[in-house]
Amino acid sequence: MTPKDLSTLRSSEIRLFLDSFDTVVCDCDGVIWNLLNPIDGVKETLGALKKCGKKLHFVSNNCLLGTKGIFDALAQYHDEVKTSDIITPTRAIISYLKEARFSKEIYILGTLSMKEDFQNAGFTLANTKHDESVDSIEAIQEFVDDDVKVGAVICDYDIYLSNIKLIRATIFLRRPDVLFFAGATDRRIYAGNKVALPGPHFYQTALMEVTGRTPLVFGKPSQNLHNYIKKNFNIVNPSRVLLVGDSISSDIKFGILGGFQTLLVFSGVSKFTDMKNIKKENETPNYYLNSFGDLSEILKCKLKM
Ligand SMILES: [Mg+2]
Repeated sequence: MTPKDLSTLRSSEIRLFLDSFDTVVCDCDGVIWNLLNPIDGVKETLGALKKCGKKLHFVSNNCLLGTKGIFDALAQYHDEVKTSDIITPTRAIISYLKEARFSKEIYILGTLSMKEDFQNAGFTLANTKHDESVDSIEAIQEFVDDDVKVGAVICDYDIYLSNIKLIRATIFLRRPDVLFFAGATDRRIYAGNKVALPGPHFYQTALMEVTGRTPLVFGKPSQNLHNYIKKNFNIVNPSRVLLVGDSISSDIKFGILGGFQTLLVFSGVSKFTDMKNIKKENETPNYYLNSFGDLSEILKCKLKM
């Protein structure tokens, strides 16, 4: 399959494209904003899709903002956005734990906003008083004992990750009945000026290697996140969903895995040359555009919308 450049399609082909989906699942970083700086035309594109009757949902692996942070940022682009439209690994894990009637404490390697999401959903977090207060290997002895109240360990992006936190997670995970979850599994996290920083993949791998445990992954491009989306948004025909993303390995792979149509945009992580170098069918998008913001202009010019 060769990806189609949406900007060069004829009016009749744009009409067919627009009629081929009912729901848009849109990534946020690199599609709607870059480090929360707006990308031109995206607000207009979201407005035009909404006007056409498309359902809009937003998916993000970013645990730095949390549900409230994503909601506040999205509200500037789309005034009808609801919290329930936002899909994150955290929300998918919460849904999984609620369904399992999980009632023990959770130990989280993750951000403060992620922890808030779990607390707001009614879960109790494990005591973290030792997490930042130990500065000698001897002092570790003080808390190497397990805490049986903890029943789950969740590992996502943690700016304040420490050896101490990894030790505590390891101790909890020695019990086979302790659930082990991973959110985003990115190898790289991009900061200002596109500087690549080590992502959660590396500390998840450390925990896997030392404990022999494999986490249930809920970030893109996991099947668990697809299951959550399909169930929560009653998606019966995945081919009527358009996934918009800026990352081939995360978004496009995720969309294809779930049977969605895919639109790759070059306003974030992946570039045109990366798409040209794709060797695998399961990473090749159906469509591409320089920016999601360009779609509003295309709809205006080609369909007089
Ligand atoms: Mg992205």
